[in-house]
Amino acid sequence: HLVERGGTEVARYVPAMSEEVNQRLAMTARVRRALERREFRLHFQPIRRVADTAAVAIECLLRWPQPDGGFVPPLAFIPLCERSGLIGELGRWVLREAATTAARLAAAGRDDIAVAVNVSAGQFAGRDLPGEIQRLADEFGLRRGALHVELTESVLMDRPDHAMDTLRRLQRQGVRVALDDFGTGYSSMSYLSDLPVDTLKIDRMFVARVDADARSAAICRALIALGHSVGMTLVAEGVEHAGQHRWLSENGCDQVQGFLFDRPQPFDETFAALGGQRGRELAGEAPADPAP
Ligand code: C2E
Ligand code: MG
Ligand code: MG
Ligand code: MG
Repeated sequence: HLVERGGTEVARYVPAMSEEVNQRLAMTARVRRALERREFRLHFQPIRRVADTAAVAIECLLRWPQPDGGFVPPLAFIPLCERSGLIGELGRWVLREAATTAARLAAAGRDDIAVAVNVSAGQFAGRDLPGEIQRLADEFGLRRGALHVELTESVLMDRPDHAMDTLRRLQRQGVRVALDDFGTGYSSMSYLSDLPVDTLKIDRMFVARVDADARSAAICRALIALGHSVGMTLVAEGVEHAGQHRWLSENGCDQVQGFLFDRPQPFDETFAALGGQRGRELAGEAPADPAP
């Protein structure tokens, strides 16, 4: 209908644009239908201590399974949901699912494992995220700190005052906040030191060649020193090789996440791979249960 509305002059360039608009509208309709039909799933990927690889948290990663057995990657539809306003509903579903997962962990005696949720701009700016999390924590009887939030720097840049206020409220509630993909954004050092954020996740881009390339190593060393100087926990994402793990261990990174340890998987598989005793044994503590 965009073509019809345009006059002749407009119509000359409208077809190409309307093609893109149509594709976006079609995708939005598909996402809406998928939400109604409950097609979305969460997969989980553990975040582990560098020293003994004991899991400390599991990150929720959104999956949209397709009939062919594959899935649409989250970055193929989340930005679109941001623009169409669907992100509110999708984000609410993810948060509720994360809270359900935290309750399952607690019921299984693993409330030492937190559940980390990725939150995008539309969820952070336009909504009462702290209130939403608190209501879920109350409803599911979650312990303080059971849920973590991951944000990218760009999410905070939109409305810095609102962001600071929201971060402080989350902190008061005991919700740990991580800056995701850290190093790819534009945060100034002074801004960072004021930020009520607990964790920096070093972007995979810098981790990829950390043990092979002097520049990557220098950047990671600087990010670790910077984060530690303001009391933050450092996580390296995208760890795929033992050499990277060794480098991160030798250079004081606190936690690691990546295919070397875990692929994102459904809850049952992730739970089985948490290695309840493995981490503690490596840390030199006695296992809680006798071996079967
Ligand atoms: P992210 O939060 O930085 O998540 C890490 C991404 O890297 C995930 O991709 C994960 O599958 C992938 N990954 C983990 N370990 C490795 C590794 O060792 N090597 C490589 N090459 N990749 C690894 P995924 O699942 O496609 O998610 C992409 C992004 O989509 C996420 O980046 C996050 O920003 C966003 N996202 C995912 N789930 C959600 C969600 O529920 N809500 C929101 N708002 N965003 C989400
Ligand atoms: Mg993340
Ligand atoms: Mg990340
Ligand atoms: Mg990333």
